[in-house]
Amino acid sequence: MKYRAHLSAVLAAALLAAGCASTTTGSVASGGSARSQLLLVSPEQVMQQSLQYYDQQNTKARAQGKLVTSGAEWNRVNTVMQRLVPHVATFRPDAARWPWQLVLIDEDTVNAHVMAGGKITFYTGIIRKLRLTDDEIAAIMGHEMAHALREHTREKISQSAAGDMAIAIGGALLGVGEGAQQLAGLGKQLALDMPFSRHMESEADLYGLELAARGGYDPRAAITLWQKMAQQGGGGGPSFLSTHPNSGDRMAALQNAMPRVLPLYEQARARR
Ligand SMILES: [Zn+2]
Repeated sequence: MKYRAHLSAVLAAALLAAGCASTTTGSVASGGSARSQLLLVSPEQVMQQSLQYYDQQNTKARAQGKLVTSGAEWNRVNTVMQRLVPHVATFRPDAARWPWQLVLIDEDTVNAHVMAGGKITFYTGIIRKLRLTDDEIAAIMGHEMAHALREHTREKISQSAAGDMAIAIGGALLGVGEGAQQLAGLGKQLALDMPFSRHMESEADLYGLELAARGGYDPRAAITLWQKMAQQGGGGGPSFLSTHPNSGDRMAALQNAMPRVLPLYEQARARR
């Protein structure tokens, strides 16, 4: 096992060296630099897969009469998204041309998520139960858009694929390759359902904070949002927290970034 673990580590290192890049330029909120990412699969593959999943989700919701694509509540959230979209170019110019899309699903669940390429889902539960202000909606929207901009799903799939390959190749070399195929298949499934890493969450917080501020939304709402989220008890808390693991230092990191993003907010307000 020791040799296998060692071989896996060597392979993983080789893969890391081969597929590392950054999907965006750095954010002001995070201090300007962008973390290097493992990107083994193509963005097209990931977007295709995400689009399929989005279509399935929306078809199901429509059949249940829960898909909201117009009306006052949808307009409110969509207005926030439309105000943030022009500012994605700050991080990567190509994303300004992505077909960003919002659907609202009329369910009690306190959740929101994004799929690769800017396919955003909000549930009415998160808006109503947390009594979100527009600024707080912008905090969630910015956070979700940031996951897409940083291509966290692609990175997650790449990490999973790298692990599978290391196990498969390491196993084959040592004559213990059985089960490698199943592992490879499992990796793909996990990629869509697995929560993002804490590191990705922190990144999404900071890039999202900056997006909201640039769009003219008060970035301090990110603090009240997470406070509301923490207060929402019952049934193990909001499902948003299960897909968005809360790190203990989340609040501290947001507070720490505030002096860097507040000037952007003031500038955006002055231009309005
Ligand atoms: Zn997140």
